Amino acid sequence: MTKKNNLLPFVVLSALFIGITFTASDFLTSPADSVKDSFILFLQWTVLFFALLPPVYILALNKYVFAGIFPPLCIVSGVLTYFRYTAGTVLTTEIIEIFMDNHSQSTVMGAGLYAVVAAAGLVSVLFAVYRFKKIKIRKTHVHLSVATAAAVLIFSIPQIKRPVANRLPFNLYFVTKDYIKNRREYMTERPGFDAVRCSDDSLAVVLVIGESLRPDHLGINGYERNTTPHLAEEDIIPFPDVQSPYTYTNASLAYMLTRADSLHPDRAAVERSFVDLFKKCGFHTSWLANQAATKGYVYFMKECDTLIYCVSGKSSYVFDRTWTDAGLLPAFDAVTGQGFDRQLVVLHTVGSHWYYNTHCEDSLKHFAPVTRSRIISSNTKQEMINSYDNTVLSTDLFIYNLINRLRDKNAVLIYLSDHGEALGENGQWLHASDSPAVHNTACLVWLSPAYIALHADRYEALMENRLRRYDTDFLFHTIIECADIGFGDGEDEYRKNLFRQ
Ligand SMILES: [Zn+2]
Repeated sequence: MTKKNNLLPFVVLSALFIGITFTASDFLTSPADSVKDSFILFLQWTVLFFALLPPVYILALNKYVFAGIFPPLCIVSGVLTYFRYTAGTVLTTEIIEIFMDNHSQSTVMGAGLYAVVAAAGLVSVLFAVYRFKKIKIRKTHVHLSVATAAAVLIFSIPQIKRPVANRLPFNLYFVTKDYIKNRREYMTERPGFDAVRCSDDSLAVVLVIGESLRPDHLGINGYERNTTPHLAEEDIIPFPDVQSPYTYTNASLAYMLTRADSLHPDRAAVERSFVDLFKKCGFHTSWLANQAATKGYVYFMKECDTLIYCVSGKSSYVFDRTWTDAGLLPAFDAVTGQGFDRQLVVLHTVGSHWYYNTHCEDSLKHFAPVTRSRIISSNTKQEMINSYDNTVLSTDLFIYNLINRLRDKNAVLIYLSDHGEALGENGQWLHASDSPAVHNTACLVWLSPAYIALHADRYEALMENRLRRYDTDFLFHTIIECADIGFGDGEDEYRKNLFRQ
């Protein structure tokens, strides 16, 4: 058998096999409304294909390395692609965590999955055999230098690295890396609060962390559309002038949940959250997650006695599956049905995150026409706003469902969104940008009749303060005052608080 220097065609074909068979799954399921949209998606896929070339090139330089890595990589990618198409599930840090924590759990293998594994295994082994028999390489070190330089260059561009990191097969590496980062973060010890003082009321405190909800799109705040038909019937107190200093989830959550404020932002990275205080006062604490854990706030999720992921396998890069907060309700019923006298429940919702249509039940899509493409510029402003407002209807129903479950208890519900959302102001969309619509974030408080009977003064204080401007650092001090929790020498507690000016 003759060996030729046909390394480069081999690298391109191997990368094409991965790119078409596995990486393309996210693009084939993306909403696109025109030939132009499809072309943009194709260009995005092409970028990923070019990002595949350097790593495949490096693998191919040694036949043993290629044979040892390429087939297993294709088989695992095949399994993930199978679940991507059949269940809309992608690899997330939660899936790795659940897998690592439940070693005995086995996946039920169906015939379809067997076929995918067999096909991916067979084709990738044929590639490995071809590499062994047909390719001869001279000056390996030159090839290695070129491939490494190309890889470093491509992955140093954030606009390429970010989408690449979420796609097959790159996510196998990047998601595992995130899982390890998260694990390191929550294994680090942070000092707890001391000299904690508690009252002994039986009480349920529920914190709903919202996502990208802007107050001026709530009917109860005077928005022209009735986006809050259920909440309008409740004795709920909106705070329309709350400002989040951060405009993206990670930084915003750590700031809200800890004692951090504008003078001491560093506390978000070194202190525990108010969950520590609730635990020390005998509250059972739970975190129900409808968003992925990230390094920015995983520590606080892990502080809770119970952590339930309602988000496994869901990703903002999946556009063809419904992902609504109604999925949190069974977990809420499970943790509140256990008969704890004192309980703190944190619900991290997906709320009004882009892609809006996936975060609203079909039965609640009252505002039409909705977006039909994930390419923002292909949708009209009105379609974007319609889809966004439909997510607000979904949040309205979700909070109403929580209130219904708390109505007969001594209970407090605080809703605070992590930040707002730009809806076309100055040509800006979504969040993580520095515009007023993104800083102004939605906030609501609901007190049960039993709680108001015990603390009429607090209800009056909320009514009095509701039009004042607050920074999201109010949360820490408000939520502990709700539960009559104090700590330390008392100097710091209850500052900057919805109950006080
Ligand atoms: Zn967010």
